[in-house]
Amino acid sequence: MLRHEIFGIPVNALTYQDAVDWVAERVATGTKSWILAINPEKIMKALSDERLRLLLLQADLFIPDGIGVLWAGKILGRPFPQRVTGVDIFVLLVKEAAKRGWRIFLLGAPPGVSKEVSQGLALEYPGLQLVGYHHGYYQAEEEAQVVSKIRAAAPDILFVAMGSPRQEQFIVSNRTLLGVPVCMGVGGSFDVISGRKKRAPLWMQRFGLEWSYRLFLEPKRIMRMSALPKFVILVLRKKLGMLKLEGDKK
Ligand code: UDP
Repeated sequence: MLRHEIFGIPVNALTYQDAVDWVAERVATGTKSWILAINPEKIMKALSDERLRLLLLQADLFIPDGIGVLWAGKILGRPFPQRVTGVDIFVLLVKEAAKRGWRIFLLGAPPGVSKEVSQGLALEYPGLQLVGYHHGYYQAEEEAQVVSKIRAAAPDILFVAMGSPRQEQFIVSNRTLLGVPVCMGVGGSFDVISGRKKRAPLWMQRFGLEWSYRLFLEPKRIMRMSALPKFVILVLRKKLGMLKLEGDKK
């Protein structure tokens, strides 16, 4: 599958259908795989944190989540066919799971939320094999127990909604022990599905303004989002040939 690189981080050029086909193949063959959603914030963090960059590089499929990634692809001549968001892939994969009999497990979000999302999905998709859920607020010493619970449930897909970089660290540290074919970090998706967090209206999503809506609802994200203008400047400098970064091959 075509893969671009943006400042040292690979990003696959794919559609939603490509992602579903990829997961189907991984589940069928039982190949241990990790899907990672890439946005400008993660790229910027990885640029200043080599350990984080090496951790992220262990993923197998990198989806172009943030609109900034799509824009950077266009400006740098490495276009992506479409934006593929973590939350939309999550919903799509749950639907496919109900059709194809894939077993799924949900990990993350506060206790009431993971339970509510599990119950809601089970109602909405009869036949869905939701083999377990667990909240994401356990103590470090409880992690081994959480991993055993997931392993015993033997899901085909594990969705981890514990925010970044916690969910990525969880997947990398435990993927061998977990024995799950497909692991995916889905950030705040359970909050969205349960209706606790609202997504931007469709017109804002289409115009690439979802980030501003999120900032409006959660002003405390301002520090995290300050990565966005820095990313834009970096892309423009790269475009103008003013920037050379180690690991940036093209
Ligand atoms: N969360 C969790 N355990 C933690 C910290 C956070 O389960 O120790 C959950 C939190 O309740 C929320 C999600 O992780 O549901 C993070 O959402 P956010 O929108 O911040 O994700 P990000 O933007 O980092 O992908």
